[in-house]
Amino acid sequence: MITAIRWKLLKLCKRLYQLLYMRVVIILVTLLCLAFSIALVGTYYLSINLVDSQAMHYAKVAVKTLNEARILYSKNVVDQIKSIDDILVIPEYHTVKGGIPNPATYTIELGERLSDESEGMLFRLYSEYPFPNRQLTGGPQDKFEWDALTYLKEHPKASFYRKEQFGDRLSFRYTEAVLMEPSCVACHNTLRSSPRKDWKVGQVRGVVEITQPVDNVILIAEDGLKVIYTVLMTIIALAISGLILVIGRFRTINQELEQKVLERTAALNHLAAIDGLTQLINRRQFNILLQQEWRRMQQQQRPLSLILCDVDYFKKYNDTYGHVAGDNCLRAVAQVLDSSVKRSGEFAARYGGEEFAIVLPGVNCFEASRVATMIMDGIHSLKIPHKTSLNNSYVTLSMGIASTIPHNQSYPEQLIKCADRGLYQAKEEGRDRFIIWSQQPSANSQGI
Ligand code: GH3
Ligand code: MG
Ligand code: MG
Repeated sequence: MITAIRWKLLKLCKRLYQLLYMRVVIILVTLLCLAFSIALVGTYYLSINLVDSQAMHYAKVAVKTLNEARILYSKNVVDQIKSIDDILVIPEYHTVKGGIPNPATYTIELGERLSDESEGMLFRLYSEYPFPNRQLTGGPQDKFEWDALTYLKEHPKASFYRKEQFGDRLSFRYTEAVLMEPSCVACHNTLRSSPRKDWKVGQVRGVVEITQPVDNVILIAEDGLKVIYTVLMTIIALAISGLILVIGRFRTINQELEQKVLERTAALNHLAAIDGLTQLINRRQFNILLQQEWRRMQQQQRPLSLILCDVDYFKKYNDTYGHVAGDNCLRAVAQVLDSSVKRSGEFAARYGGEEFAIVLPGVNCFEASRVATMIMDGIHSLKIPHKTSLNNSYVTLSMGIASTIPHNQSYPEQLIKCADRGLYQAKEEGRDRFIIWSQQPSANSQGI
């Protein structure tokens, strides 16, 4: 059970590996595109955050400057001179002789001077209770200002900000509460034109707001991002092309290697099965093929014939003409034998030294004797001179033929033994002939 599961898991892993290997380009390209998209989104949000935090920093500095200017003016100017009789600290200061602006008016006017409408820059101080001379502009002017006032009344120490469309520009709007100071309370609660006279220290008297456009900064950042994106896309396109090229080359090399391995394996198999001198099947392969044909004929219950051949007086041939001539002679004999086998399953093999074997499946001993006759005729027609032969002036062959229908209790070795006996008998009877050997040597032999 466990082995079966392990085997299934192994199969699954192998399949997954094959799938990954086959799809490696697609997977890598997808991963690269994913990384590229994440980098794009990341840099976009990073640039937006940078713009926002820069705008926030500037707004805080500006609000602090306005507040400090108001406090400085209040303590160092107003408090110093308000006791002088001819000096009046009032919002409508320019309408009377000796009038100077109260701190809020001073801050509002400073803000108006710092504002630049053409650039969309706005510094404002507004209140729920504007002085009569500022009824029109001194209160909240739009939803954002009302929202800021409402929020800051509840959270006086906090800040309220939003990025939104202001006029025709995208702007960052930042507000902080202006709290009632002890020095302001007396003045505000006693001044004739004051719209409210029950102020207490710490109450939210108004809101200071800085509005600054950020669309142009965002545009600059986006232009910079476009350059980065183009460079990144070029790099990634190059990387993907390189990757595809490398993997393509790798696959080609792999295929070439596989092809070479196949060719080498085929060559090795050929070497292992073929005799180098005669190019016939060697003894090892003969044994394998004989077993195969034996089983096939056993299943089909058809005859299997074997012819064993031996070159006559070949030692003498070698001694007379030399070993090289001996080799050439063996090659010529092998060609005759090879051309004698034509039908499927038939084959000629080098059995050893100057001995050869012909295997004829589906062929009985009489048909085998026709093949043997053909071989003898072929050898005779070669007319290879053999002056030291004791039975002929040319090279001749002796053959032993055995034939059987294989069954459960018989073996190929028995067939070989019978053919060998036939061969021995052919030698005994004078060579250059064949003998059909069953249990008893047959009378069907042919000689010259
Ligand atoms: P017989 O007619 O009784 O067969 O006599 P023979 O001389 O042919 O038999 P023997 O077994 O005495 O000699 C066989 C010779 O075959 C001996 C050996 O030198 C030679 N021989 C075996 N293999 C080769 C080979 O590959 N090349 C050559 N040139 N000679 C070989
Ligand atoms: Mg021999
Ligand atoms: Mg011989």
